[in-house]
Amino acid sequence: MDEKWQKMYSAADTVRHSRRLSEYIEAGGVAAAVMAKSGRIYTGVCVDAACSLGICAERNAIFNMITNGEREIERVLALMPDGKAGAPCGVCRELMIQLMPESFGKIEILLDCESGKTVSLKDLAPEWWI
Ligand SMILES: [Zn+2]
Repeated sequence: MDEKWQKMYSAADTVRHSRRLSEYIEAGGVAAAVMAKSGRIYTGVCVDAACSLGICAERNAIFNMITNGEREIERVLALMPDGKAGAPCGVCRELMIQLMPESFGKIEILLDCESGKTVSLKDLAPEWWI
């Protein structure tokens, strides 16, 4: 991993710890770090609710980025409960595509922390439906 991925890994790993928020809600098993075009890193954790109104860590991090006034993503890293990287789900992929319909193909996603293997969002979503 290059220095940027390492910083993102550290940021996500810092907030990644599973916790029970109530009888019905757990959070933090998965954590994500998003690097915006500015170079700032935004983090988020998954929130799993019995009512199904939870959110993925990636979208939580993206919404954190949007909350802070940015809208362009350069890199995405999601850390699973075992500390390994994972690819974003279909809903998160769709959000990123709709957020950056002209340039989503440039978004880099880390698939493997050990080898540093990355993929572009275009590779994960080659035929957008719109
Ligand atoms: Zn997702």
